[in-house]
Amino acid sequence: MAGKGRIVGSNMGSISYENGDGPSTAQVQRVRYVCADQHQTEVPFSAEVTDVPAVWDCGSCRQDAVADGLDAEVSAQALSAAGHAARHGKPVPKTPWQHVLERRSIPELEVILAERLALLRGKKHRASA
Ligand SMILES: [Zn+2]
Repeated sequence: MAGKGRIVGSNMGSISYENGDGPSTAQVQRVRYVCADQHQTEVPFSAEVTDVPAVWDCGSCRQDAVADGLDAEVSAQALSAAGHAARHGKPVPKTPWQHVLERRSIPELEVILAERLALLRGKKHRASA
């Protein structure tokens, strides 16, 4: 077991987080959800979100859609948990993101995101100029 899990600190401080091209486009991760009718719903999450939901409302028919590429067993469990809550009439608490989605469509949000990013990038450019 020698050496297993050991953390060597020799690289500490040698990693630069500034790569010179400004904010990267990798700040958004897109997760595709597929419902029973094979509708595909793409949901953008911040790249910092590591635990994206396994189940999402289908954008077309509002059925439960499962994250694409998810392990079959995991997705079955997630679906059954979602179905269970629905059958028993327990309202599943909505996330702030779901509230946002009730007011805005994904294309609208894309526009807003692009505007905000442009604004942030503009500020950054001025500050570094
Ligand atoms: Zn659907």
